[in-house]
Amino acid sequence: MSNQIPSSAITIGIDIGGTKILGGLVDSSGNILSATRRDTPKAGGDELYLQICEVIRELNSKSEVSGIGISCAALISADRRTVISAPNISNWNFVNLGERLERDFSLPIVVENDANAAMWAEYKFGAAKGFNPVMFFIIGTGMGGGFVVDGKLYRGAYGIGAEFGHMKVQSEGILCGCGAIGCIEQYASGSALMRYAKEGIAADPVLGQEILNLGDGSVSGLTGSILTKAAQANNQIAISAFNTCADWLGSAIASYTLLLDPAAIIIGGGVIDAGELFLTPVREAMGRYMPFADTHPAPKIIAAKFGNNAGLIGAAILVRE
Ligand SMILES: [Zn+2]
Repeated sequence: MSNQIPSSAITIGIDIGGTKILGGLVDSSGNILSATRRDTPKAGGDELYLQICEVIRELNSKSEVSGIGISCAALISADRRTVISAPNISNWNFVNLGERLERDFSLPIVVENDANAAMWAEYKFGAAKGFNPVMFFIIGTGMGGGFVVDGKLYRGAYGIGAEFGHMKVQSEGILCGCGAIGCIEQYASGSALMRYAKEGIAADPVLGQEILNLGDGSVSGLTGSILTKAAQANNQIAISAFNTCADWLGSAIASYTLLLDPAAIIIGGGVIDAGELFLTPVREAMGRYMPFADTHPAPKIIAAKFGNNAGLIGAAILVRE
């Protein structure tokens, strides 16, 4: 029934993350007409469901809507109805969100993985447009992935395809949130970046204090945006942290390139606020580690267009299709 949504209609997009719920009214061109946000309830489960319903009612009071797209930081069933596993949200495993929301709101519902939803926004209206195939990395606390081939989101047989953050890169490495050991997420995510920075600060407290003084002066107050500012101010600990992260990502991208041969790779998430400061060393590392180097074109490495709103925009567009 979702393909009966006319192009003039408005849909709701909701992005459910570990810390916040973003909601918006979105038109068929991906513009957000109205937005709202809530904190994700710590208890998750039914409390989270009620909060999602509240976001929907608030948005629905402003405009008639024709469908609801949900983007969630979780593994989603292949039929795009059920949240199977959400490692960063409490009591949010095997939740048939599609069925519950359809019963409560009588509207077409689609539930999609947050990185896939964000990828779709980038493909339809953003940096991934026109590339085939095209890969997407969303690098925040963790590392999500998306892949579009011939104009379609690639999901695989059981809906878990394109989870690029969980390729093993270290045989005896760091335990990952997915339960495996040594995933690239543990070496090239925003969390890894912060770990490198904190190691650098511990090794050189004088130079480290320069970074911390951009925030509240404490290591616990260190954030990604402070680290970005420090790197832009040429602090060598900050630059080295970005370079280490970029080196891991570039080496992974070199491997993915031989698997999937993407025309472009879009990089989004909080880490991309650093812009070329991060992308330039990623490109250099990709070149350095590329198998069959200089025998084939390398994918373009491009910053994502949409920031935090990519997931909700993509979900709102997906429910039309
Ligand atoms: Zn993992």
